[in-house]
Amino acid sequence: MLFRKTSRHPLGSLYLTAVAFIAVVPTFLSHHPLARMVDPNDRQSWNISANGSIPGQNAPIRTVQHSGQCIALTFDDGPHPIYTPQLLYILRKHRVRATFFLTGVQCEKHPSIVKRIAAEGHELGNHGYLHARLDKMSPESVAADIRRADQVIVRITGIWPHYFRPAGGVLTPTVLQAATQTGHPIAMWSVDPRDWVVGRDATAITAVVKDAVGPGRIVLFHDGGGNQPRMLEALDSLLDFLKKQGYQFVTLSEE
Ligand SMILES: [Zn+2]
Repeated sequence: MLFRKTSRHPLGSLYLTAVAFIAVVPTFLSHHPLARMVDPNDRQSWNISANGSIPGQNAPIRTVQHSGQCIALTFDDGPHPIYTPQLLYILRKHRVRATFFLTGVQCEKHPSIVKRIAAEGHELGNHGYLHARLDKMSPESVAADIRRADQVIVRITGIWPHYFRPAGGVLTPTVLQAATQTGHPIAMWSVDPRDWVVGRDATAITAVVKDAVGPGRIVLFHDGGGNQPRMLEALDSLLDFLKKQGYQFVTLSEE
């Protein structure tokens, strides 16, 4: 017999509850709105210059440089076992390519979806391994987290994720240095419909994008985290709208 019957001692179940709680809470927090509360625009507290750079390091990109009416769609926090395949279906239906900022931990859980994202022509980006609060970590830990995600993505696809996007958009000098050390330019965004806010409906998500979109803009969506059904609902109609407006869709590294 491989497993002995578990103890009936009342503390046994208490212990198991505590272990389950400790195991679940970090995952929950990493996708909880609280994890995104750090304001990337609050440059004073981060001691970052107006364009989000520190001397000797490349400034994060917030737009793509393209001739013509191009925009770049980006999707963070995946791959998700249910919503990423649905997203890939919508993108394929509209013949749109996008950039996916993947977390290493999700890639390890769903490697076949990562392969599919790459195979369907989308660009892969590094969103860290754990989606951790980078502002609470040492420079060595931030660099190690980025490298760990690189290794997972390269192992699964053979593709080096060119851009790094910090979890929660946290841009501290430490994060900027770690990105440079690990060989990644940073990609931020210029349109944020806050699609991850649970309870936010498709109309609200759509309205922000329609209002803020413009040539060269980078749009931030989430295929992991929360509220993805509303994001997908918004995206399907948004792609029709944007195409009628004459937009073409590019990935971040596309020349
Ligand atoms: Zn994220």
